[in-house]
Amino acid sequence: MALLDRIVLSTLPWIPTPVMRRLASRYIAGEELDDALAKLRRLSERGFPGILDVLGEGITSEAEARKVAETYRHAAGEIARAGLDCYVSVKPTHVGLGLSEGLAHELYASIAGRCRELGLFLRVEMEDHPTTDGTLRVFERLRGRFSNVGVVLQARLFRTLADIERLAPGPLEVRMVKGIYLEPKEIAHTEAEPIRGAYVECVRRLCARGARVSLATHDDGMAERCFRVIREAGYARERYELQVLLGVREELWERWKQAGHVVRVYVPYGPEWRAYSQRRLRKNPQLLRHVIRDALRIT
Ligand code: FAD
Repeated sequence: MALLDRIVLSTLPWIPTPVMRRLASRYIAGEELDDALAKLRRLSERGFPGILDVLGEGITSEAEARKVAETYRHAAGEIARAGLDCYVSVKPTHVGLGLSEGLAHELYASIAGRCRELGLFLRVEMEDHPTTDGTLRVFERLRGRFSNVGVVLQARLFRTLADIERLAPGPLEVRMVKGIYLEPKEIAHTEAEPIRGAYVECVRRLCARGARVSLATHDDGMAERCFRVIREAGYARERYELQVLLGVREELWERWKQAGHVVRVYVPYGPEWRAYSQRRLRKNPQLLRHVIRDALRIT
């Protein structure tokens, strides 16, 4: 880790909450569900469908996990009531994967069931590599019962191409990401260009097996390469979409929308925003550089 990153990271706990809130407000909708729904409504008016995420991960008790699942079921009901084109996205360790695979499966199934009643989709997110096998097992079990559930795959991990082949045949919806967790070089690409190359190859394989693909990225050069792959595969507009993070490269969302792509915006919210943001920045200090650059409006 660069010295400057280390210095800035070590000061994070002392940054006053109002200052942190100002920095985070670009990326996080607020503390309450109503804040997120208001943000999603405004995005929808501008032609951007959404994804709702309740901030949090790594819960340490079953009671907490059950509460998180209830929060998601309630949020799904409110999304449907508001008539928004939006789905929910859930981290495996937020619903107890770190405690038990059975618990995570049960809680995901309860959210998926509620979403199905409401005509909504549910995304199983992907966290760091010790959780990959468990997450994929839970996803495959869900997939056997629910057609409204998709998963995330990370291009950075060497294993991902093989995972695409290993997933059971049948309809599949994958959000392709580079991977936010900095993984060891023995199991993952660590440089930008190999990660991009792996991402495009994963998209190619997903198209070859007929999966619906969500390209979650702000890397426009890499996205162009993916568009070529998608065109060559003969994919129509409803078989892929772009996904972006709230507050990141908005000029790009507009450009992609104007070009005829669906662009869906990821909207996180929750009272745990400060602890969550600090944990994220510690795990991946590159994010800190993005935040500082954005705050100073250096492009
Ligand atoms: P980069 O090369 O990192 O970024 C391209 C450019 O975008 C950068 O130069 C910078 O200008 C800008 N940028 C990118 N990220 C930020 C940021 N946070 N703040 C400010 N500027 C930024 N990862 C997972 O491991 N698991 C998941 O489940 C997951 N879900 C995701 C869902 C969505 C909708 C998105 C968009 C990303 C998700 N990610 C997830 C994160 C992903 O893995 C990458 O870490 C992230 O998208 C940055 O990679 P990039 O492809 O945008 O390329």
